[in-house]
Amino acid sequence: MPSSMGSVAENEPMCSTSQSTMESDCSANLHQAYTESSNEYIRAYLKAKNDYGNYSCSGYKCYLDVIKQDLKPFSQGIDKKMIELTIPKGVKYIIMDGRVYREKDCLFPSRCEGVDYFLNSIKEHIPNTQLVINFHDWPQVNKHFNQLLPVFSFSKTDEFFDIMYPAWSFWKGGPALSLYPKGIGRWDEFYEKLVQKSKIWTWNKKKNLGFFIGSRTSSERDHLILLSRGHPELVEAKYTKNQAWKSIKDTLNEPPSKEVPLEEHCHYKYLFNFRGVAASFRFKFLFLCKSVVVNVGNEWDEFFYRGLKPWYHYIPMNKDDSQEQYKSLLLFLIQEDEIAQEIANRGFDFIFNNLKMQDVKDYWKELLVQYTKLLKFKPKLDKDLVDVTTP
Ligand code: UDP
Repeated sequence: MPSSMGSVAENEPMCSTSQSTMESDCSANLHQAYTESSNEYIRAYLKAKNDYGNYSCSGYKCYLDVIKQDLKPFSQGIDKKMIELTIPKGVKYIIMDGRVYREKDCLFPSRCEGVDYFLNSIKEHIPNTQLVINFHDWPQVNKHFNQLLPVFSFSKTDEFFDIMYPAWSFWKGGPALSLYPKGIGRWDEFYEKLVQKSKIWTWNKKKNLGFFIGSRTSSERDHLILLSRGHPELVEAKYTKNQAWKSIKDTLNEPPSKEVPLEEHCHYKYLFNFRGVAASFRFKFLFLCKSVVVNVGNEWDEFFYRGLKPWYHYIPMNKDDSQEQYKSLLLFLIQEDEIAQEIANRGFDFIFNNLKMQDVKDYWKELLVQYTKLLKFKPKLDKDLVDVTTP
């Protein structure tokens, strides 16, 4: 990932403009720095084309390596004792004879309903099984501090043993905004709406601007927000309120901005994604605008992230890249419009073809079939579980 431009401190002017000689030195330096990073971007883009030019996969099969990798630590099998120790870390589920049962108490009822939906759609294809699902944003089993336990979480970094599952919010229980008071969900409906928007907001109609809107769930977003305040001609990036908002400190010392619906993200060519508390649900939506997605930081994963290839389907940046690096990437994308459009089209095609609702269900199915092979005991129903089977 290009990262050679990080020499100017944050919030400092990019160049001194006090003397005309300095001015010309400065613009020559900037020009040289721009050319260097631009060459680096071109190399990364060409290398990705070379590496992934023949890359092809279909639907949930694009993510099979993730299942293999997540289940590998459990290759010795999962016994009853391990499951008992896992239960306090989440909500217990049993699928038995084509019916779905779970613990009655669920801290986030709509998140549980989101998962209930997926388990119900695949229940006939799953052998009897038992699993523990974590509904918090944060994964549970840190490799350095915990013994190996099979807990399912929607997102994690390499530091965790958690087994990734497709988030509840593909159906229900995503973050509630004033725009989406019931919470963002129904990926199938957003999928249709965003694809329609991408047909209206074709590449040449989009603004040559970077765009990000969201709350300050992670300070890793600050560089782009600050760049936007100094260079609104390059990027529109703003902080909104979330439920934890108390004062303008929570929106980096400016009043919160008005929320912008996901469909309106399609008006911009360069859409930024950042982690939030864990991975942000925003990532998948951005691709369907047919804009180029810039993903900042590669630490936080969801099950489908690794199917997408850097500089081929999206543009990667490092989480600690400076404002100057954001600026140089945006200038590059504006300059190299065809490259930007090519990557935007490939990112769109990948998500459009391989992350349909059916692919998400198929991933759940394959994950549970493979997981169940590792169980060393026959699951038994307890009285404290409720039947959440739907037709
Ligand atoms: N979001 C949106 N419009 C806004 C603000 C947020 O559509 O004006 C969406 C955003 O894309 C994400 C969700 O709301 O999917 C939550 O965003 P936020 O930044 O609050 O938290 P995150 O989950 O990204 O940490």
